[in-house]
Amino acid sequence: MIQGYKPGKGLTQSQKHKIKEILKNQCLKKQDDNHCLCLPIPGYNKNVYRIWRDFPWESWKCNCQYYVTTQRPCSHISALQEYLKEWGKDGQKRLF
Ligand SMILES: [Zn+2]
Repeated sequence: MIQGYKPGKGLTQSQKHKIKEILKNQCLKKQDDNHCLCLPIPGYNKNVYRIWRDFPWESWKCNCQYYVTTQRPCSHISALQEYLKEWGKDGQKRLF
C-alpha cells in the first residue's frame, strides 16, 4: 500500500497539500540546473529527496519511494514544476 496513491486520479488531496507546504516552506534547494534537493517539510518527516533530470530534460526524476514505485510525478516533482511555472518558458531551461 502506497500512501496517497490512487491510480488514474491524478494528484490526491494529500499530495496537493504537500506541494503547497513544500513551496511555502521553501524546501526546494537548487544544486545546479538539472539537480535539486527537496528538504523535509517541518513536521512531516526527515527525509531529503533528490530530484534530477536527464536528457531530454523535460522529465524530472525523484528518489522518493512514491516515484521509484509508481514512476509517476510525486509531490516533490510537482512542487518543482509549480515553481518553474512561475518562470514561464525560461523556467523550462533553468532552475530558480
Ligand atoms: Zn519525490
